[in-house]
Amino acid sequence: MSNDATKPMPRINAINRPFFAACNDSELRLQRCLAPGCGKHVYFPRVCCPHCGGGDLEWVAVSGRGTIRTHTFVRRPQHPSFFPDAPYHVLAVTLEEGPLMYSRLAGDVPEDADLIGKAVRVVFSQEAPGQKLPFFELA
Ligand SMILES: [Zn+2]
Repeated sequence: MSNDATKPMPRINAINRPFFAACNDSELRLQRCLAPGCGKHVYFPRVCCPHCGGGDLEWVAVSGRGTIRTHTFVRRPQHPSFFPDAPYHVLAVTLEEGPLMYSRLAGDVPEDADLIGKAVRVVFSQEAPGQKLPFFELA
């Protein structure tokens, strides 16, 4: 099948720019709340902590490790630019630092693989010129 569609890219803005810049350095960085008694990590990027409402967030490098909470297997993507990648697993990963992150599983993993609860680590995939995105691989 002919496919010349380009993948939709993240809408980078002042709030999420540090996240995507870190991806290009192959580093997973999340926000962390600086409010006394909170200190929780925050993902996706935003202006206030979703746990305490504090507005003082700093960017910190995180481990890139997590566990698969759930997943699905994509045979026919919704956007034609992803047709060449299919089939692939889409994951919900609970990061060691707490937040839940949705992403893709890197590598050739069978459809019926028992993935829930499996350990993963982040890898960075060059999904477009000038932008890497975080995927996960089995640890
Ligand atoms: Zn907080």
